[in-house]
Amino acid sequence: MKKCKTVVITGGAGFLGSHLCDRFILEGYRVIAVDNLITGNMKNIAHLKDEKRFDFLKHDISKPITIPGKVDYVLHFASPASPVDYLMFPIETLKVGSLGTHNGLGLAKAKKARFFLASTSEVYGDPQVHPQKETYWGHVNPNGPRSVYDEAKRFAEAITLAYNRYHKVDVRIIRIFNTYGPRMRIKDGRVVPNFIDQALHGKPLTVYGNGQQTRSFCYYSDLVEGIYRLLLSDYAGPMNIGNPGEFTILEFAQLVIKLSGTKSRIAYSPLPVDDPKQRRPDITLAKKHLQWQPKVGLKQGIKETLAWFQDRL
Ligand code: UDP
Repeated sequence: MKKCKTVVITGGAGFLGSHLCDRFILEGYRVIAVDNLITGNMKNIAHLKDEKRFDFLKHDISKPITIPGKVDYVLHFASPASPVDYLMFPIETLKVGSLGTHNGLGLAKAKKARFFLASTSEVYGDPQVHPQKETYWGHVNPNGPRSVYDEAKRFAEAITLAYNRYHKVDVRIIRIFNTYGPRMRIKDGRVVPNFIDQALHGKPLTVYGNGQQTRSFCYYSDLVEGIYRLLLSDYAGPMNIGNPGEFTILEFAQLVIKLSGTKSRIAYSPLPVDDPKQRRPDITLAKKHLQWQPKVGLKQGIKETLAWFQDRL
């Protein structure tokens, strides 16, 4: 194979991981996707199966990994990422954030590769500072039901920076805010696929609590661009990447109803434990260091996502 750079993507068959596989193939890299398929799906990467520069390895990154040959970048994206998923796989979520990050870092160290950690806005917990800047330490319940994800990702940041300080591994850390788009699992339980699924089936949209909690939704293509730029930049992070447009969940439900043309109504149900009341990224750092900001507004992104799900009904 001619000299192209090799990138290992854990969680490569997942929603974001598979879009990253596409991007790196497009940019001329050799891509090795690693996934244990507990929430990932081979369908997301089926179109890459005849691609010479693409390989898939079914492996749980929470267990040690050996990859022959040179590796230039290790991108650690494996993890359940929906609150419903990580409550269904609590131990796996803790393990992939801790042991999985350790194994990914070990691979990067052995290969002298750059390690890229997919961290999350969940490290800010239920934030008392708004919008959230990278300097904010967060407000996380260390033992509530969401802690399996939040604390695993906080540990992941700590061990990534420890490998950087003590083993001189070159690292980048992104904090990803709510992201949506094609290839999300319709039943993954997150608000975007839930509302779309409900709207397309004429069922009530399940708003949790009074719907006044806020989220900021980033379209996947903007996120992938931010990831690509951060990986190749000189800035180690942590860096927020997300869309600063902030909406209440009720406003979001109304938008999905309007754009889908459904006759669905809204049905209220209880707010999950420790559900963050507000979330919006401060993206000053990304603008400054990556010249990055999102391009796709919520309306356009939801229209495209609705169309994608509609085609697969
Ligand atoms: N949510 C909702 N109805 C749903 C699913 C989620 O009202 O059917 C709310 C949830 O309580 C949270 C927000 O939507 O306030 C975003 O939830 P999601 O599961 O997408 O991810 P989170 O941002 O909480 O990690």
